[in-house]
Formats: sequence, structure tokens, C-alpha cells
Amino acid sequence: MSNVEPDPVTTRCANGPEAADPALHQVEILTPREVPLGGPRAMRVRRTLPQRARSFVGAWCFVDHYGPDDVALRGGMDLPPHPHTGLQTVTWLFSGEVEHRDSLGSHALVHPGELNLMTGGRGISHSEVSTARTTVLHGVQLWVALPDAHREAARDFQRYVPPPIRKDGAEIKVFLGSLLNAVSPVRTFTPLLGAELTLAAGSSLTLPVDAGFEHGLLVDKGDVELNGTVLSPAELGYLRPGIGSLTLRNTAPTGARVVLLGGPPFEEETVMWWNFIGRSHDDIVRAREDWASASDRFGEVEGYAGKRLPAPELPNATLSPRRNPPRS
Ligand code: MN
Repeated sequence: MSNVEPDPVTTRCANGPEAADPALHQVEILTPREVPLGGPRAMRVRRTLPQRARSFVGAWCFVDHYGPDDVALRGGMDLPPHPHTGLQTVTWLFSGEVEHRDSLGSHALVHPGELNLMTGGRGISHSEVSTARTTVLHGVQLWVALPDAHREAARDFQRYVPPPIRKDGAEIKVFLGSLLNAVSPVRTFTPLLGAELTLAAGSSLTLPVDAGFEHGLLVDKGDVELNGTVLSPAELGYLRPGIGSLTLRNTAPTGARVVLLGGPPFEEETVMWWNFIGRSHDDIVRAREDWASASDRFGEVEGYAGKRLPAPELPNATLSPRRNPPRS
């Protein structure tokens, strides 16, 4: 496991000629689509990544946002054991409790404000179930693509509770990377930023950020201006690299909450299908076969009451790689 320092080299200068380029400050608004999760009770999530217009924000490659769901009405989360390759999963809750079990032997209850990061490089499997204590389920599920040099990384599971820091009416929990004077100790394979921010009514906050990073701001609640562009709940606002500060303004008379993601552009081509990230169609076919044949590549999840999730059928066509559109 390599430890990428959360203090990456700045590759662009915010005060250089690019700072004057208005296109740099143009926020691209990514709207979500509703997707049912697998499993018998099929909870619905709002997915903003990946989508046709954008595959990545840094190495972040998957953004699912759900709730607040009254689980008495909507069933909660019940994801039977399923596999992952080539990626890390991040569970971050605003409300509720999720029981995580994986083939590393981890058994964790995930709570709001607590990062749970699972690495499934060569292969891991896990189950996720909201507990009986949960009345309202609300949070995000995020994936990080592993760079080629580490895509076969060993199984790993890390937890971290970031201490909240405060600035200008905001409370900030930095769960990955660094922001202001907060640094997450959690190991990642590329430089990343991940933080939850709650913004008091009418507050405005300017954050210095790494100009080598691109950023995505997911609005959970409230209407929040990102560098002058208003984002509505469930939208992901994207900003290209080259910007040295982000200004968030909560124009609403009530509190707002957002999740800020960032990282240097992920330039590798990947093939993403179901729960797998590989580099080729054949990588995906092999991973699917290994799951279908219960190969020890993915191990066993102990203690889940029920069957594991079968892989869907592969499409007839060859899966093609995805990457971000070229920068203009
Ligand atoms: Mn999963």
C-alpha cells in the first residue's frame, strides 16, 4: 500500500495567465439520474457520476446520493454480498446506520460523520445493510478508481472520524486529503479531496484549494452558490483545474450541506462495468467469471443472511473504455 501524501504538487499557478480565463470559472452542472440499487428491496439513489458528459472528478468515478429516506416507507438498504475490483468504496452517512461486512473479515457499523473506505484492488466482496435502529437513511456512496500501478492492491478497510473544523459559519469534516488546516490520515493511491461542509444560513466561505485539482461539489440540501453559479440539491457542480480558491455561498434562510470532492485529473482509460473497474473488456469478463464461479479472488462474506448477488449478463458488444472529454 503506497501512502500518497495529501499535499500534492501544484501543477498550475492560480495567479498565472489562466486565472484570467473566464472558462476556468464556468461551473458545469451535472444533474442526477434516479437508479434503483440491486437487491430485493431496491432502494433508489441519485447518481451524478459517471454520466455521458463526465466520467471522473479526479479519481472519483462514482457518486450516489440517497435519502433522506424514511426506511419504514422505503425499505432502507439491503445489498447482498457483491464483488469489486480496481476501486475503493467510500461510505459516508448523514443519518442512519449501515452494517458493513466484507471478505477481509471486517464487520463494521457505519455511522454519520465516519469515513469507511474499502479497497478492492484485485478483488473483494461486501454486503451493506441498514440496521433495524435506522429510521432515516441519508448519505453518499462514492467510488475511487485505482491507478494502473495499484489496481491489483490488496484488500483493505480503513475507518476515520474527522474532527470538525469551523470557518465563517461553516462546519467542515475533511475525510480524505487536506483542506484549510485539516489533514486526513487515510491512505489513498492518488491525491484526493473529500469533505462534508455544513453552511449556516446566509453564510459565505472562501476555501483555498490545490489549483492542480479539479473539483466537484455535490449539494445535499439548500441552494448553494459555487463561484457564482447556483446549484440545487442533488446536483454536482464541476470546476476544471486551474483555480486556487472556491467560494461557497448559502443564500438560503436555512442551513445547507454539501460534499466537496477533488483530485488531479485521472488521465487513464478504464473500463467500468457493474461493480468492476478494469483496463480492458477481457479484464471485466474475467472478473465476472471469477465471481460467477465463486473463485477465492473475492473471498467470502461471513454473516450476511441471504444469497450473494449474481452478476448481470454482459452486453453483447465489447465494453469500451471511458475517460473524460478532452479539455478545450
Ligand atoms: Mn459495493
